[in-house]
Amino acid sequence: MRAAGQQDIKDRILDATDKLLSEKGFQGMTMSMLADEVGIGKGTLYLHFPSKQELVLSHIDRIIFRLLVRLHMISSASDPPDEKAIKMLVTRVLFRFDSIQHYRESLFDLLSDIRPALIERHRRHFNQEARSLNDVIEEGQLVVERGASAVEPRRIVHDGGLLFRSGRPATPAKVRAARARRSVMIVAGTRPECIKLAPVVHALRDREGLSTVVVNSGQHAEAVRRTFAEFRVVCDLEIPPLPASANLCRATQALTRELASAIDRQRPAAVVVQGDTLTAYAGTRAAAAAHCRVVHVEAGLRAPTAADPFPEEWFRRRIARHAHLHFAPCDSAHANLLAEGTPPERIHHVGNTGIDSLRSLLAQHPLAPSDRAPGHVLVTLHRRENWDQRADMVCDALVELAGHRTDLRFILPVHPNPRIALRLRKRLGAHPQFSLVAPLAYREFIATAASAALVISDSGGIQEEIPHLGVPLLVPRSCTERPEGVATGFVRIVAVERGMLVREALAMLAAPRRRALPFDDAAPFGDGHAALRIAGILEAALAEVALA
Ligand code: UDP
Repeated sequence: MRAAGQQDIKDRILDATDKLLSEKGFQGMTMSMLADEVGIGKGTLYLHFPSKQELVLSHIDRIIFRLLVRLHMISSASDPPDEKAIKMLVTRVLFRFDSIQHYRESLFDLLSDIRPALIERHRRHFNQEARSLNDVIEEGQLVVERGASAVEPRRIVHDGGLLFRSGRPATPAKVRAARARRSVMIVAGTRPECIKLAPVVHALRDREGLSTVVVNSGQHAEAVRRTFAEFRVVCDLEIPPLPASANLCRATQALTRELASAIDRQRPAAVVVQGDTLTAYAGTRAAAAAHCRVVHVEAGLRAPTAADPFPEEWFRRRIARHAHLHFAPCDSAHANLLAEGTPPERIHHVGNTGIDSLRSLLAQHPLAPSDRAPGHVLVTLHRRENWDQRADMVCDALVELAGHRTDLRFILPVHPNPRIALRLRKRLGAHPQFSLVAPLAYREFIATAASAALVISDSGGIQEEIPHLGVPLLVPRSCTERPEGVATGFVRIVAVERGMLVREALAMLAAPRRRALPFDDAAPFGDGHAALRIAGILEAALAEVALA
């Protein structure tokens, strides 16, 4: 992923380390040579890496992390388990050769210097690899059990550098369960939080040193249950739904109280909140009051003023004041946090976890060519700033657009909020070109968006997803906190004014279609592996706290 600031320099230093190690070897490479290669002073180099050994270990960390990502991608794909196991082993072996082949002569002196430190440092990674493989084997075992007679599960366990098969069932699971665990509470209250937190829940559960407690805050209780179910996440705690009549102030107080009591009972080591919702804000307040670490996923998004969009912008700025770890989803968010004086070591530019969910979905259900015959416009509208008269204005623009393009159908999954739902139904419900439907399941929504001629939406998450679907998105808002989406050329922000909306929509419909962006290092909101990074960083941070 394209990284900014501190992370960028670190990456450049590690790239230079790779080059010099292969040319000069560990002994021959000096810190001065490295500083010259990167074009920075030696002091700056030491600021990031206190010693040559630490630098080389970090370089190897990066190589191993890339391997773990590849293995994780294979193990979470929908291929048959035996094929996955073969692919994983081949990847593991080839990766070992590929990643060191350019070192040749220099490898011996490198290993003789850092081998013990290397083995100690990577013991956890070996275990992670073993667990990934173990999952696939268990999955295969299930297939066997369902198809034929039950066979006692065999598992792979790691023992001091050796992988071997154990005939005794459940050994690693029991061992893992017996170990002291650090508990992380993850709080979700709305559909987008679930879509963005589900990969985090899975990645945290894969970490040996962590356990999770997933809380449904009751903000949109049913949507949370339904959306998490799509990602195979079941909530451990359910807070009673908020009364529909509660105003923002009372709802904040009530939810903070409920979450505070959940934190008091569970005593988690950290509370993970996502984005800018009432749930994220109440979770932050409750955790901060209990002196519990706040971990903010999708941190640092900023609109020009704190009052707009309200209350989202206000919530995220306040969450930032209390967060111990800030996981920034994109370049601008990272820069915003630094500009506000957030300590750099607390910010991690990891990418957006919503892109993790999209990447997994498209890996399992690739878009078929038949999905590419656009005959509809997909519309969603839910933001508080677009309630009331602005909603009417958008509806008027949509009706005018439908008059210009009688060949198109308009599909509107209507947000459950009655204030916006009633308005949309009243203005558009009887129009023959409009289909007002219940909110779509995530998979169905993505398929409908990918096959649309145009999407019109005030959603934040859709701005991140749309470049990967190759569909234009018109956003009826005065600003965006996600400028990277606009920079891709797929997203246009247009003030809520009837004439302007219609003109822009017609122009976007007439423009030639562009190819979807791939999930790679240059993608604006990350490469789809943010959750793995978050889990690794959080586990390390909590381990440090435990040792301190
Ligand atoms: N989405 C969905 N079903 C729908 C509408 C949207 O699954 O009917 C997904 C969409 O793909 C995106 C997220 O919900 O991942 C966006 O949610 P929303 O627009 O409600 O919130 P925001 O992103 O603005 O916080």
